Amino acid sequence: MGLHEDFITRWWVLHAALRRIHDGEQMIISMRRHASRAEIDEVCDRIREFGYKVHSIEGEERVVIGVVGVGDVTACLESLEAMPQVEKAVRISAPYKFVSREFRSVKSQIRVNGVEIGGDEFVMMAGPCSVESETQILETARFVLSHGAQFLRGGAFKPRTSPYDFQGMETEGLRLLAKAKQETGIGIITEVMSDGDVEMVAEYADILQIGARNMQNFALLKALGKTNRPVMLKRGLSCTIKELLMSAEYVVAHGNPNVILCERGIRTFETATRNTCDITAVAVLNELSHLPVILDPSHATGKRSLVPALSRAGVAIGADGLIVEVHPRPEKALSDGAQSLSFDQFAAMMRELKPYISIWKNARAAELSPA
Ligand code: PEP
Ligand code: MN
Repeated sequence: MGLHEDFITRWWVLHAALRRIHDGEQMIISMRRHASRAEIDEVCDRIREFGYKVHSIEGEERVVIGVVGVGDVTACLESLEAMPQVEKAVRISAPYKFVSREFRSVKSQIRVNGVEIGGDEFVMMAGPCSVESETQILETARFVLSHGAQFLRGGAFKPRTSPYDFQGMETEGLRLLAKAKQETGIGIITEVMSDGDVEMVAEYADILQIGARNMQNFALLKALGKTNRPVMLKRGLSCTIKELLMSAEYVVAHGNPNVILCERGIRTFETATRNTCDITAVAVLNELSHLPVILDPSHATGKRSLVPALSRAGVAIGADGLIVEVHPRPEKALSDGAQSLSFDQFAAMMRELKPYISIWKNARAAELSPA
């Protein structure tokens, strides 16, 4: 080996060692439900004896302990696993811990308003981009419910690029969504834009939607951790899959495990569509994380003619559901009319999706109970 190659080899060995020290070995320890304070302290002391640092997250029922540092991982894991108050001790190499597949090998199911997201039912969320009037939202709620949707979407607080565009009906919009739920029973998903509004919006919504523009609003993500309402986190316009998962980790690490991921297209050089749908992201997210994944074919394309084709792709690639914009009169919509389906188009799409969803169901059943 020449002097140069030798130097390079040594450099890489050193670099790898430094990285190991920098990243530390990471483990996550889940305590049994209702473990006592003394039992938790005993586990923390054991972790420290191995030279690791403890970072505990205390939920109402269960405490989860994050372990960082450098030490003998195998010995530490074995020792912790032997403690009766420990339910599970796992080593996690991904920077997102709680949301990774390493932490939980099976998909998480989130039960909301009688529907299981991430389970054996394909979930459909549909409705207008914005809540515009009582007639509009009630008409839509009845229609989408009778055509197979389990959730009504509709923004009351709208993140608009221009300050001169319609900003949403705000609290009046939330009240109309609540009315639609009261009259039809359909679940509600609506956007929350700021940390100060989380509690208020959570009173009306079954699922809190976090828009693409807010995916890395860390104050908002922390506030979402304090509520137990499920959160649907949309991928940021220029955010990587890893960044999406890190944002989901924020919510979970701050105490709320009920997070749903959403691919809604990203910004690229392509202009034929409003965004570029990273359809592969659905499969990648399913591989890297146990959280349910929803595809938004409306924002991903920006064109209603493309929504049915992309929806089929979403079912085929293994999304847990779709969120689709539907409006009784798309040409009159105050926002996103061009990508909104009319009632007839939504009904036709739901009909066309049936055979695809039936294949999806077989695949999901096999996944849930492998032979
Ligand atoms: C929406 O769902 O209407 C919306 C604003 O979506 P996004 O945050 O993905 O742009
Ligand atoms: Mn929209």
